[in-house]
Amino acid sequence: MSIETLVANLIRPEIRALQAYPVGKAEGMVKLDAMENPFRWPQEMVSEWQSLLADCALNRYPNPVAPEVVAGLREVMEVPEQYEVLLGNGSDEIIQLLAMALAKPGACVLAPEPGFVMYKMIATFVGVDYCGVPLKEDFSLDRDAMLAAIADKKPALVFLAQPNNPTGNLWAEDDLVAIIEACNAPDHQGLVVLDEAYLPFSSRNHLNWLDRFENVVVMRTLSKVGLAGLRLGMLFGRKEWLSELDKIRMPYNINVLTQASAAFALKHYVVLMQQCEILKAERTSMQQKLTQLGFSVFESEANFVLVGAPESATAREIFDALKQENILIKCTDGAHPLLANTLRFTVGAPEENSALFAALSRILNAD
Ligand code: PMP
Repeated sequence: MSIETLVANLIRPEIRALQAYPVGKAEGMVKLDAMENPFRWPQEMVSEWQSLLADCALNRYPNPVAPEVVAGLREVMEVPEQYEVLLGNGSDEIIQLLAMALAKPGACVLAPEPGFVMYKMIATFVGVDYCGVPLKEDFSLDRDAMLAAIADKKPALVFLAQPNNPTGNLWAEDDLVAIIEACNAPDHQGLVVLDEAYLPFSSRNHLNWLDRFENVVVMRTLSKVGLAGLRLGMLFGRKEWLSELDKIRMPYNINVLTQASAAFALKHYVVLMQQCEILKAERTSMQQKLTQLGFSVFESEANFVLVGAPESATAREIFDALKQENILIKCTDGAHPLLANTLRFTVGAPEENSALFAALSRILNAD
């Protein structure tokens, strides 16, 4: 039997139908595609960190509960003592843990769309149904459609990213509450994950919703605040949920170098937050300049801005022309019907944003 036939016989058809998560080549480019923080640390901080790393014992397994990281997170994120903290290799791993734990046969994962693609991909990985509920045209939540889908599909797990990726906006609080309550009703129970990946750039924090709702957990990450390379995500929630999820976490999922680096970075969190403040100011100026260039600019509480292309060029043309100029953004056109002819710009450092606007002016002949 040929290897192709063997693979086709053995690998689940829904896995064979998947496309791997796309990561474009970006060497030498101005990288405004992946919501990273563009800033490095000040040199004295780098030197201190390097000497810490020199003391890491790579011959030993990491501490399975990463106590220094948990303590640092509790402090900077003001997590009340009564809640537990679960760490993942990025919040991607936490999404996977949640899906694995709730994936009873016939279970369903539900999320508004357009949304973060890993919710759907991970549902497929673990073999459960996925239901995407379209947002309204202005990217607000379609409360009626969400409640109808919840009544129909009875999802075990609902993801609500606040701010949402790729749209960048926050949703009305009463819509969120209606969804959470519909998932803790006599006829249906589901766990709602409030995904606060972009919290450092947002005006709303949902940590105290853990007090209000038994069926809510809050997920965050250090990726957007400046530590995408470390891979550290976290889940905050009641002990009853987290102690179950912890049973399926790989014992050493947070490696020695990540633990040392994250604990160090959390002690210097103020440096990262200052960088985020610069990015928030850059976001405002980016939105103004994009508007001046004729883009339709959507509101954003994140470190990226979603836009509709101006009349003079399509999203795809602008994406290709920027790539020619060594600037990488995200072409969201085609990712979802509501994203037709749109682009997503990650907010970069001031000099990167200047390079972007110089290139956009050339491309759109706006000089
Ligand atoms: N949630 C949302 C909404 C995201 O946009 C992302 C990253 N793009 C993640 C979670 C995953 O982040 P990480 O795995 O880097 O923690």
